[in-house]
Amino acid sequence: MSRAVVALGANLGDRGNTLRAAARAIAALPGVRPVASSHEVESVAVTLDGPDATKPRYRNAVVVVETELEPQDLLDALHGIEDEHGRTRAVRWGDRTLDLDLVAYDDRTVDTVTLTVPHPRAGERAFVLAPWLDADPDAVLPGVGPVADLLAAVGDDTDRVDEPRLFDDTDTTGVRP
Ligand code: ADP
Ligand code: MG
Repeated sequence: MSRAVVALGANLGDRGNTLRAAARAIAALPGVRPVASSHEVESVAVTLDGPDATKPRYRNAVVVVETELEPQDLLDALHGIEDEHGRTRAVRWGDRTLDLDLVAYDDRTVDTVTLTVPHPRAGERAFVLAPWLDADPDAVLPGVGPVADLLAAVGDDTDRVDEPRLFDDTDTTGVRP
């Protein structure tokens, strides 16, 4: 079994419901077992031109899973879940009902046309680092360093949403050894 970290984001529609449904769908994938999840956070939309306060704000969260799926197979499954939630891909970094990114997969590096792991921008994004740290206080971005240090360096500009963690099963609210 491998351990994978998936970042969820949404800035259109009922964002909280979408994130919770997506987390359930990820946990229910064949060959996937939920390990831990974060609370939801809110943050300003980031576009190719930088932060844009005129765009709908994002909800983000992170789930940690154990999986038998290879990284590309997991990404394909994540894209299937995006599609089930009406995702369209008109504009890169544009508004979306659901974005699922594979942030890390064990200590593996993958660099193909369709998949780069660890996710190249994860270490600069508080909206990934803050929920990741929430889901796993000992998290390390492979090849870079502890997520706690990275978050301290970029500054946490996210706002915690007053809702339960995405997985409501109390067995999955913390990373087990
Ligand atoms: P973005 O998340 O950058 O806004 P998309 O979600 O539309 O953009 O993804 C664009 C492409 O990024 C996907 O088709 C996918 O093949 C590729 N990609 C490369 N590495 C990753 C990764 N680690 N996680 C998710 N998608 C990735
Ligand atoms: Mg994406």
